[in-house]
Amino acid sequence: MEMKKETLGIIRNEIARLKKVPNGFYQKRFEGINPDDIKTQADFESLPFTDKGNLRDAYPLGLAAVPDTEIVRIHSSSGTTGTPVIIPYTRKDVNDWAIMFRRCYEIAGITNKDRIHITPGYGLWTAGIGFQAGAELLGAMAIPMGPGNTDKQIKFMQDMRSTVLCATSSYALLLAEEIAKRGVKDSICLKKGVIGSERWGEKMRRRIANELGVELYDIYGLTEIYGPGIGISCDANDGMHMFDDYVYCEIIDSKTGKVLPDGEMGELVITTLQKEGAPLIRYRTHDLTRKLTGECPCGCKYPRIDVILGRTDDMVKVKGVNIFPGQIDDVLKEIPRASSEYQVMIDHFEGKDRLTLFVESAVPEDERFELEKEICAQFKARIGLIIVPKAVAIGDLPRSEKKSTRIYDNRY
Ligand code: ZN
Repeated sequence: MEMKKETLGIIRNEIARLKKVPNGFYQKRFEGINPDDIKTQADFESLPFTDKGNLRDAYPLGLAAVPDTEIVRIHSSSGTTGTPVIIPYTRKDVNDWAIMFRRCYEIAGITNKDRIHITPGYGLWTAGIGFQAGAELLGAMAIPMGPGNTDKQIKFMQDMRSTVLCATSSYALLLAEEIAKRGVKDSICLKKGVIGSERWGEKMRRRIANELGVELYDIYGLTEIYGPGIGISCDANDGMHMFDDYVYCEIIDSKTGKVLPDGEMGELVITTLQKEGAPLIRYRTHDLTRKLTGECPCGCKYPRIDVILGRTDDMVKVKGVNIFPGQIDDVLKEIPRASSEYQVMIDHFEGKDRLTLFVESAVPEDERFELEKEICAQFKARIGLIIVPKAVAIGDLPRSEKKSTRIYDNRY
């Protein structure tokens, strides 16, 4: 997908502005870069990336690209290590976010007749308030529940006749199970679910959709760039539409930093086009996805990326093929006799990479060979790699709370 001329112009102007911010975040980063020299997409693609670490170094308000008097709100993302990241918002930023969120609801077919039950948290984190502002702009009735207290959630869902559930996938599943357990499904009016973009498998999606009897939509976003609501999946359920008048998306090889062609899997990098308080140029999200080409059957013109397939930190390269846990989940999901528990070991064997996949299964020992053949064939067909499959008994693999221990790379 070629970058639009106007997008390049917007970015060029933005960089010129950012370079003039006194002691601004980009003043130093773009030292020696003349905005007038950014004439082509290739020029843009030679600009340095911005990473979360850079944002953390700017704590507390070093990211601000406007005077204090124009900042109306801050949000913060903590991450797992130490110093939080503070993102300042101007009035326009706050309004723009609500406009995008309203679009998300509209793409999901939600209208001002709906009652939107919002379970993500409110506060420093961006989630709840984004869902709320978009709902109010749409003219729907927002029910600002916040997380937790399942009894109250279900009571309000019944009494307020909530029609839309906004939640993380894990909380949506918990509520769905609880509603089933209590046998109160008939008194629940939910029609749609807008689910946060953490990676979730198709098995989980089907369960939530079936138990609640709703259509589900994946919403995308991150605190560093407005928050949730910069993109959403549609009725075609084939990727997420991204609002390209607000954000410019690139997919890069996370190891080399090279921009990848459309359709190839890599790391999503976002440049903001209208953000005033804390604009970001080439921000690395560490989310793995790819650009989808062609018209979406739903008719919506916003370009699409695939749903998030994992984090770059989880990816390994074997025989030149990038592999991440989400893909392995996907392969095993299609093989009914394989359980969801697996472990990958990668090593060098006779000068080549070798990937051994241990999969737990309940099949009797004399049928394991057949199962292994099937796993091998599926892996070859779907990921393009010949592996060494090893079926083991249920409970044979060590259990761990950390998902990263599913892949052992012994090559280095
Ligand atoms: Zn669509």
